Amino acid sequence: MQRIVHDLPTTNWCATTSLAAEDRSVVVSNADEAAQLIRECDSRLQTFGARFSYPTYVTAHDGLAVHLRSEQQILASDDETITVTGDCTLGAIWDHLRDRGRTLPICPPVITQQTVAGALGTGTHAQGTGEGILADTVLSIDYLDAAGQLHRIERGGEAFGALQLHLGALGLITQLTLQVTTNSDYVAQKYTTSGDDLRQNFRVWNERSDHVKAWWFTEEDRVHVWEVSSADSGITIDPSGTHTDLNPILQATQQRMGAELRSDDRTIAPQRTVGRFYDYSDVTGDLVEIFRNGIPAPQINMEVGVPLDRFEAAADDLRRVLADSAYRLHYPVILRPTGPSSAWLAAAYDRPTCWFGFVVYQRADGSVADGSVELLGEIQAALAAHEGLPHWGKYFDPVHYDFAALSRWEDFKAVRHRLDPRGRFLHPRLANLIA
Ligand SMILES: Cc1cc2nc3c(=O)[nH]c(=O)nc-3n(C[C@H](O)[C@H](O)[C@H](O)COP(=O)(O)OP(=O)(O)OC[C@H]3O[C@@H](n4cnc5c(N)ncnc54)[C@H](O)[C@@H]3O)c2cc1C
Repeated sequence: MQRIVHDLPTTNWCATTSLAAEDRSVVVSNADEAAQLIRECDSRLQTFGARFSYPTYVTAHDGLAVHLRSEQQILASDDETITVTGDCTLGAIWDHLRDRGRTLPICPPVITQQTVAGALGTGTHAQGTGEGILADTVLSIDYLDAAGQLHRIERGGEAFGALQLHLGALGLITQLTLQVTTNSDYVAQKYTTSGDDLRQNFRVWNERSDHVKAWWFTEEDRVHVWEVSSADSGITIDPSGTHTDLNPILQATQQRMGAELRSDDRTIAPQRTVGRFYDYSDVTGDLVEIFRNGIPAPQINMEVGVPLDRFEAAADDLRRVLADSAYRLHYPVILRPTGPSSAWLAAAYDRPTCWFGFVVYQRADGSVADGSVELLGEIQAALAAHEGLPHWGKYFDPVHYDFAALSRWEDFKAVRHRLDPRGRFLHPRLANLIA
């Protein structure tokens, strides 16, 4: 049956939180082995991807941690589609396609070490109002239900929108087929502007450019913006010119961060995430080259998706909350809009959405600056008041959110109940929300 393998990871990606016991961690290498495991063991099962999610809903201490480790992860690819196993990383998919002049029809997230099934599970996304989230590029999903029965569901299938953001609670995903398109070059215009300009013109930037990402340095109320458009759009850029206007704000941010992290070392990962913006320039490249630039560091990350048409009001309220709070953010607010998604549980379900992202870096001993979590609570309350809903793979406190406002919330619960009546794949904390 399943193999107990003793070098399986038992913590989250950055080894700050224990997720599973070593002797309760098993590996399966294909759908048959996974089906056998599901049928023969009676434990609760938590499938692990690359463990990049915030740990709250992905621990396996009450059951068995299941690692899918396929021998071959890319099963087929042509000009239109790619078929991979659930444990294939997003990086492997993008790299395979780029070598062939192809790509997925969405921007990559800032890191691509996640598995495709795990990234789907929490609603992973990037930015671009002409695209949804990763889940919207998926054409079919093969999964095992809680009885060990293998199913294939295609886009358009009755419960497809549930599987598109499954929370690990609908079974074990063995294989997926994703849509593929031609890879092409883009130009990234970078500039720094005022918070007033952001609040007035954010939607204008999104109408005129394909992919917009902005970093809002709320202490100074200045915004660093990347407007990215097709290289064929006729927009000209100047990659040789360097801009120094953001440098003083970066210095101030790094100083504040150093004080909070109790470290003067500017080479540690959290400081490098700020330092990379010094002397910025416009660039050309494909979307992977432009956007896959994350520097992973131990952190509490949080993202709240607010309807894009409430952006101005939400940004105003956020600004007030941050100004009135006794606590301070040590990283800019990251703004990433996407188009509507068909994933039932996504904050972006059926609505263009602006994702407001927040990062609180952890100190070397794992602690965070005093009041950070309280501040994240104040922020969630403010954004939830604008119909904000959380990213499922990041930190959130469910008390702030009205999940039932999602029009397919009850449908998701019904699908979950049908596929897994005993809650074998249901994390106990998620059970409080979706049982
Ligand atoms: C540094 C960092 C950067 C990030 N950048 C972004 C970003 O740019 N955009 C964004 O949207 N998010 C981002 N995230 C969040 C990340 O994309 C999600 O947490 C994602 O779900 C992680 O995928 P994973 O493979 O690590 O899955 P895990 O965290 O291991 O698991 C996620 C969920 O999927 C389930 N699961 C995993 N594999 C399977 C399977 N085969 N079958 C069924 N269920 C399964 C798990 O049980 C769990 O419920 C970031 C996180 C970090 C820490």
